[in-house]
Amino acid sequence: MNNKKNIFQQIISKKIITNIVYQDNLVTAFNDIKPQSPIHILIIPNIFIKTLNNIKSEHQLLLGRMLLVASKIAKKKKIDKSGYRVVINCNHHGCQTIFYLHMHLLGGRQGINIFF
Ligand code: AMP
Repeated sequence: MNNKKNIFQQIISKKIITNIVYQDNLVTAFNDIKPQSPIHILIIPNIFIKTLNNIKSEHQLLLGRMLLVASKIAKKKKIDKSGYRVVINCNHHGCQTIFYLHMHLLGGRQGINIFF
């Protein structure tokens, strides 16, 4: 890893102050700076993983925790009944712009169905 830390590494190391909505020993969640829906929260591992391509079997607990935390935050934000979307973008075709694994939690309004 090069020494120039990307924005999410700086958030984890508290070099950048952001609105952290949840943190535990494995993951941190904070509001997206440019929300695409009324609720737009990013859930990231506390350790650096570049993309979904870089996950290993030892990360299974961490990846499960990311989903569990998404579900818990959705309940806390009261969007569990209306529904929400979780998204992980990977590399260029997946529209990943920040190369630090992150999961988007999007809710609070009707999303667009991108598959039909
Ligand atoms: P992606 O396109 O999946 O890589 O998403 C990166 C996301 O990070 C975008 O939704 C950005 O708005 C968001 N983002 C970039 N910088 C920050 C920041 N400093 N704090 C919170 N979210 C950020």
